[in-house]
Amino acid sequence: MRREASREPKFLTDSMHGKLTRWLRMLGYDTVYYPRGDDEIIQKGSEEGRIVLTSDTELYRRILSKGGRSILLPLSGTESQLSQIAIHLMSEYGIPFEEFLALKFRLCSLCNGQLQPSSDNRWRCGSCGQEYWVGSHWKNISQTLERVRRLLKGLSKE
Ligand SMILES: [Zn+2]
Repeated sequence: MRREASREPKFLTDSMHGKLTRWLRMLGYDTVYYPRGDDEIIQKGSEEGRIVLTSDTELYRRILSKGGRSILLPLSGTESQLSQIAIHLMSEYGIPFEEFLALKFRLCSLCNGQLQPSSDNRWRCGSCGQEYWVGSHWKNISQTLERVRRLLKGLSKE
């Protein structure tokens, strides 16, 4: 069954998580990178219904106390950050790990714009014009995602 568009989780990342922002867009999730002060982050997150991704415990607590959504992440380590988000999406949205971790040519990892197919196995960003294709760099990306899957498997055995 398809989830309604409004139930599709959207994210907001703070200044510490530029790299994670690009990963989430590759996985097809609308993610705004927002390197601003705490008050502005809290306001934008709540206005746009975004899950705020941060490693700042105080910011995290403030968002939850205002009824907003946030996930407290380790400061570094793409694999452990993605696995924490996967666990959250599974428990709050019922999104299976495999669905979350599948690469989707939907959003531009540079600007969050919509991708459109341009020719065979190529996609073009409608906002900034960046082109995407499946090439040798996808091997590294797939390997990282495979490590996240293994992390999640290890966690579910505990
Ligand atoms: Zn773009």
